[in-house]
Amino acid sequence: MTNTERKRRNLTDAADCQRCGVEEESLDHIFRRCEIATDCWAASSPPTDFASSFHLPLSTWMEKACINNQTCGLGLSWRIIFPYILWNIWKNRNDLVFKNTLLPATMIVKKQRLKRWKLNVYSSNGLLPGRTLGLPDGLIIAKTRGFTHIIAETDSEALVQALDNGPRGDPSGSTLILDCYSLMNQFQEIKTTHVSREGNQCADFLANMGQNAAWGTTVLDHPPDGLSGLLNRDAMGSSTCRRR
Ligand SMILES: [Zn+2]
Repeated sequence: MTNTERKRRNLTDAADCQRCGVEEESLDHIFRRCEIATDCWAASSPPTDFASSFHLPLSTWMEKACINNQTCGLGLSWRIIFPYILWNIWKNRNDLVFKNTLLPATMIVKKQRLKRWKLNVYSSNGLLPGRTLGLPDGLIIAKTRGFTHIIAETDSEALVQALDNGPRGDPSGSTLILDCYSLMNQFQEIKTTHVSREGNQCADFLANMGQNAAWGTTVLDHPPDGLSGLLNRDAMGSSTCRRR
């Protein structure tokens, strides 16, 4: 809760920002007006559209950033990067309030680069249909794009179990598991998890869309219409009861 809100509820006498002491600590101040926030946005090299949007109301400013398809100086879509930097600014503010620690803006933005990236791999029947599983292809794409920390989610319990059993874990002797291990060793960190397709709205959306697509692999550089909201909710951990 911001100090402005705490003062409104008579929980404190001082509504000042603990970081700068210049203004009251509103959400607008924390995310846009405080010096640490402006330094963070400058350090992230945002798209020009974003840099010229600070006059907008806070909620409108956030909404526009979450649908901004432009690429930022970090080399990634702004609609994906923006919520993470926003979260890190909020977390950094809480660390100051509760732990009396504060990172410089460059470190707050750099922490974003160390985030884990989620790779969703979904099959049609939950078994091990050989090369039709997308894990090797997804790992190659992630490696090509420079991602180092991966969370791979799949609806195939058999695949997760085989990977948990080690490089020789596939009783059918398929080279799929060996290929996966070879690729997985190229990342600094990777975790495989079983999630039902129904529990992941993003994967369900893409799977339904793919039913009418041509056979083979389709790479989407930007989320199609209808998926952005689901991705943002997933990135913020809004989904519930997904793992079992
Ligand atoms: Zn401040």
